Amino acid sequence: MKTLRLLLGDQLNINHSWFNDNDPNNLYVMMEVKDETSYVKHHVQKILGIFAAMRNFDAELKQRNFSTLYLTISDPQNKHSFIENLRWIIKKYTIKKIEYQEPDEYRLDNLFSSFSKLLHIQVQPFSSEHFYTTRQCVMNFFEDKKQWRMEYFYRNMRKKHNVLMDNNSKPLGGKWNYDADNRKSWKGKPDASIDLRPSHNLENIFNEISQEKINFFGKCDYKNFRWPINRAESLELLESFIRTNLIYFGDYQDAMHDKNWFLFHSFLSFALNTKMISPMEVVERTEKAYEEYALPLSSVEGFIRQILGWREYIRGIYWSAMPGYEKNNYFNHQRSLAKWFWSGNTNMNCLANSINQSLDQAYAHHIQRLMVIGNFALLAGIKPEEIHQWYLGIYIDAFEWVELPNTLGMSQFADGGQLASKPYVSSASYINKMSNYCKSCHYDSKVKIGDKACPFNSLYWNFFETHKDKLATNQRLGIVYNQLKRMDSEQKKQLVDQSQIYLKNIDFI
Ligand SMILES: Cc1cc2nc3c(=O)[nH]c(=O)nc-3n(C[C@H](O)[C@H](O)[C@H](O)COP(=O)(O)OP(=O)(O)OC[C@H]3O[C@@H](n4cnc5c(N)ncnc54)[C@H](O)[C@@H]3O)c2cc1C
Ligand code: SF4
Repeated sequence: MKTLRLLLGDQLNINHSWFNDNDPNNLYVMMEVKDETSYVKHHVQKILGIFAAMRNFDAELKQRNFSTLYLTISDPQNKHSFIENLRWIIKKYTIKKIEYQEPDEYRLDNLFSSFSKLLHIQVQPFSSEHFYTTRQCVMNFFEDKKQWRMEYFYRNMRKKHNVLMDNNSKPLGGKWNYDADNRKSWKGKPDASIDLRPSHNLENIFNEISQEKINFFGKCDYKNFRWPINRAESLELLESFIRTNLIYFGDYQDAMHDKNWFLFHSFLSFALNTKMISPMEVVERTEKAYEEYALPLSSVEGFIRQILGWREYIRGIYWSAMPGYEKNNYFNHQRSLAKWFWSGNTNMNCLANSINQSLDQAYAHHIQRLMVIGNFALLAGIKPEEIHQWYLGIYIDAFEWVELPNTLGMSQFADGGQLASKPYVSSASYINKMSNYCKSCHYDSKVKIGDKACPFNSLYWNFFETHKDKLATNQRLGIVYNQLKRMDSEQKKQLVDQSQIYLKNIDFI
């Protein structure tokens, strides 16, 4: 009996138990289908990176003598839909059973679980064996809690997996969280980090996707493609990050700078999300490096928190809230994306930098995503679904299970606070404190009214004034609403009027 084992582009886990032994009756199938490139418009680097990593994975399977069938985007046999391809493969190879690893995306999970009905065949799902937690784990953990806070989940994960714990089952160093030490701005020292990512010539794949008329956007120097596309490169990236940048990760985690675009971040999200590397090995290696390189605990804890805490928590939110999470719109925001989201052509220097960088690199670090681009989108009342699709398309690491809760929940507060305890918004003062963007901006971060006024300032107050019915009772916003109460009505009116000027001219600010 022949079994077809289907693999997706984000299931490149060579350590999966599927590959522990080699049954010649198993046929491993991977396909580059147009359906998967077109549900939103994607950055060219995202398409190239996924296809290149898939092709490498197939080559590795072949080298280990696994029997594989790989359909490239230009293969004339490729019908560009999972179902249509599976139909002819089942017939041609007399397949009696399909096995698949559970997709991380609700849409595909739904489709795959209907295979037996659609294809009249025996079907068996398997775990992807990638995450620390099951899909339901976060939901079960918060079962009877009104609010879901990452910090409690994270502490539990630390205890459960014995990560950064001392011999008395207490957190190493006495504190669970060194977040307060992670807020320095970067002023040119320590020296800017070097981009240690590998380089590849992906001209062939670029030509193929162009000939196939795949709809993409963004820039790519495809002869010098800088993302890891196999497991060895992913492991090497982890090592080089640990050796060079992890030491400063904690201090400068929230910093932004126009001369140092990735600061001391790891670039590991693409390797992690395609499963070329596992979260366990990243956490274990980082914990070991703490002693090996005498690294600061604030850096090591800060980095581990992102993976053991945030990444697993976000995934749990996704599975507890789907389907329908993408429709959340707590503030009923209806504005369309400004045109410059696609060009980076705005006078706001923080946004011009962050968006141009995203268009050029398919990457922005967390604070650029949250406190510059997401901050503006929320203050300007952009429709959450539109901003979600933009994030899903532009970032190389964007897969719905991790992108959607981060964008809709954390960044846009569109779920009304299931994920975040308050909206992540700020006026210009935060951006000015954490970056050098304001220094060369057309606008003045200190000015609130007039031609030179930074749009973040009036939009910030307009946002809280507009949504006072929904937000004024939030205890974490007490200071904001006390300030608003104390503001005289003329000042408030001026701010609201200023914000309306910007909103009316949003494509040109
Ligand atoms: C609006 C918004 C959208 C985002 N969309 C995505 C996305 O599509 N895909 C994605 O992987 N991350 C997303 N993030 C989280 C974070 O911005 C990226 O993981 C990070 O910038 C990737 O770069 P890095 O690998 O250099 O990360 P580092 O800063 O070096 O962090 C290390 C790792 O921690 C994990 N991590 C950090 N923060 C988060 C988080 N909030 N949620 C989940 N994992 C986290 C990532 O795996 C990351 O590789 C988003 C954040 C925001 C605010
Ligand atoms: S002044 Fe305002 S728009 Fe300009 S960089 Fe600073 S925060 Fe951004």
